[in-house]
Amino acid sequence: MERGLENLRDEVFRRNPGESEFHQAVTEVFEALGPVVSRHPEYADAGILRRMCEPERQIIFRIPWVDDAGTVQINRGFRVEFNSALGPYKGGLRFHPSVYLGIIKFLGFEQIFKNALTGMPIGGGKGGSDFDPAGRSDAEVMRFCQSFMTELYRHIGEHTDVPAGDIGVGAREIGYLFGQYKRITNRFESGVLTGKGITWGGSLVRPEATGYGAVMFADRMLRTHGRSMEGQRVLVSGSGNVALNAIAKAEQLGAVAVTASDSSGYVVDEAGIDLELLREIKEARRGRISEYAEQRGGTARFVAGASVWDVPGTVAIPSATQNELDENAAQTLVKNGLIAVAEGANMPSTQKATELFLQAGVLFGPGKAANAGGVATSALEMQQNASRDTWSFENTHDRLETIMTGVHDRCLETADQYGAPGNYVVGANIAGFIKVADAMLAQGVV
Ligand code: NDP
Repeated sequence: MERGLENLRDEVFRRNPGESEFHQAVTEVFEALGPVVSRHPEYADAGILRRMCEPERQIIFRIPWVDDAGTVQINRGFRVEFNSALGPYKGGLRFHPSVYLGIIKFLGFEQIFKNALTGMPIGGGKGGSDFDPAGRSDAEVMRFCQSFMTELYRHIGEHTDVPAGDIGVGAREIGYLFGQYKRITNRFESGVLTGKGITWGGSLVRPEATGYGAVMFADRMLRTHGRSMEGQRVLVSGSGNVALNAIAKAEQLGAVAVTASDSSGYVVDEAGIDLELLREIKEARRGRISEYAEQRGGTARFVAGASVWDVPGTVAIPSATQNELDENAAQTLVKNGLIAVAEGANMPSTQKATELFLQAGVLFGPGKAANAGGVATSALEMQQNASRDTWSFENTHDRLETIMTGVHDRCLETADQYGAPGNYVVGANIAGFIKVADAMLAQGVV
């Protein structure tokens, strides 16, 4: 890493102690930026990168609520409004017991560059809570969401900050959050949240967009090498929104997705995942992945507590959570003949795993490029809300495809221009950074 960047990275570490995921995300970006900093001294002169590493605003708040047994529960809520150079802060809300400030900051930091890469007018932010929706009744989830929004509402708005879903926040939670926002503000302000239901301001294709986009990105990477998704044996981790839709798009493109997982283990199905069955278990019943193997019988088996990356495959779409794919897993995958990775999740590969993939010549699409389809389609939802319009599935899907092609090509061209041909990590970080940096330069020291 270049000396100036190293000093700045150390400063970021000192100012944000104990936030290991944030440190990791900052390090990945800094490692890519060497050639930009030497070519553009004006960025350092204006303190662009130092400012980018400091969120514009960080909000932490108490969320009191009453569970079904009548006991008062207290959770902690976060919204980090990281950068608004390109547009209103935009990024999801995560409800998971592991959430703390360092996770929200890593996600918010990534979001700045990802959103810039989409070409849409959106800034970067992220939020969430350490609330665990697992095992909670709908009524408990509703009371929690209402309490969460009772504080959050004063910080967001269609021109200010527009949250969406992430881990633990799907259509049900967005519904409760929107209902409470509408009640408090007495405004039907559809553009304040994305991921809404189709009948009340949502966009077609938004539920599918992240998983679809990741597989489109993989297909595009493969096509630069004369291949495609057709006939690939695909490994997917997770069984939530991103994973299910990655499996769907892989199948549409003629690949066979053979795995899915959750925090208890994974299933491998040699006949290809039966998506209808998996959706029924995970979406309709909020069940566990082991039930898939029980109900599918013959071709499928459940492996408890093990790594899904032990299964041989040619394309991997990690779609669960950060740091789920480490160096050992990467080694196994490469040994087993992997040719491409498109990250559906945010930062699912550790830094060592990423390096190993790049050294082995595996086509590697980092999350901030490969999973940008979700937020891009959220921006399309905002466009429809602003014009009080509803687009067809085909139209929205076509736009998603065009956006993903644009993100892919921008990464590749930028990597070329900065002396790292074929390196999507370098391309994504530099292309995203320059777009935001130029807007910040134009807007002065704010
Ligand atoms: P969901 O909550 O729908 O699904 C998450 C899945 O990942 C579940 O199967 C869950 O299993 C598994 N998982 C979560 N945490 C862990 C863990 N610590 N260890 C093992 N498995 C885990 O979330 P999404 O599908 O929306 O999000 C998945 C990833 O994609 C996240 O990294 C998110 O940031 C990223 N992403 C999501 C976007 C979106 O549009 N939704 C947009 C861009 C990125 P279990 O139920 O057992 O916890």
